[in-house]
Amino acid sequence: MKPHACAVGVDIGGTKIAVGVVAADGRVLAERTLPTDSRAGVLDGLTRIAAAVREVMHEAKKTNANVAGLGIGCAGPVDPVRGVIDNPHTLPGWPRAPIVAALTHELGVPVWLENDADAAALGECYYGAGRGLDPVVMLTFGTGVGGAVITRGEIFRGVGGEHPEIGHMPISFAGAPCYCGRSGCLESIVSGTAIAEAGKAIGLINAAAVFAAAAAGNAEAAAILSHVRRALDAAIWTVLHAYCPARIILGGGLVEAQEAFFTTAARTARVNAHLVAHTAVEIVPARLGARAGLVGAAGWALQRSQAHGRPAAHAPHPPQPLP
Ligand SMILES: [Zn+2]
Repeated sequence: MKPHACAVGVDIGGTKIAVGVVAADGRVLAERTLPTDSRAGVLDGLTRIAAAVREVMHEAKKTNANVAGLGIGCAGPVDPVRGVIDNPHTLPGWPRAPIVAALTHELGVPVWLENDADAAALGECYYGAGRGLDPVVMLTFGTGVGGAVITRGEIFRGVGGEHPEIGHMPISFAGAPCYCGRSGCLESIVSGTAIAEAGKAIGLINAAAVFAAAAAGNAEAAAILSHVRRALDAAIWTVLHAYCPARIILGGGLVEAQEAFFTTAARTARVNAHLVAHTAVEIVPARLGARAGLVGAAGWALQRSQAHGRPAAHAPHPPQPLP
């Protein structure tokens, strides 16, 4: 069977949803962004996503016959095996949302669901900073800290399909309590939320203000960033020794805003990591920005549809009506 030349990607975040038709070479042929507004309920959300998919397919002049299917990257926790979103923190109003079965029924194409960090890492591996390298670890620093591991072109999964929560590696025994149940996690030190919280304690309004104040010579802000730098160094050290990756990609809004700070701090850890093949590891910023999840989700649909003769990570789901 001739491989499909394009697929539809959907990137679902807490505030907005991006929908696009993506060619096999990573070009976005048509794109829409809509508010998530998950409090309006699952049926409302799925109906709007389906409408946006039809719009972008019409604009790109594609029919069901010439798209490989729909790939969805969604803020986790998600259950890729059952095709269910279950994220009460970021997506209130969508409890146990059976998005795969519902959109398969509604659109008549195969649908695959993955964690958004995995989708972004796949996007960078297919079309961006991780092309041709294996294995790749991507760390995403924004409101929180996400992580994904791609090995041999596949998403690394834990037992039951679980997604590794790299942002919750412990960094400091004396750190602030984290919602995961521990204290001093990477996310509770290096996320935009954590830096903003530390900044507020010294009268600064957000993370950007902390970076600006430190650059202007504010010693308290510089001390916050020194702590952040040491935490980042420890996290990269752990990733290097746990995964022995060929490349570590640093992405997310915080890295986009402070690229030199993040790459410099992360590369410092690599220099001294003599137990692993540290000279073979590159640490680079992401290249695709906010589109990584969209193109990665579409690329995953293309890859899954072409995976003949190999066991699929999970089979397409039987169609079910919208809930
Ligand atoms: Zn934690």
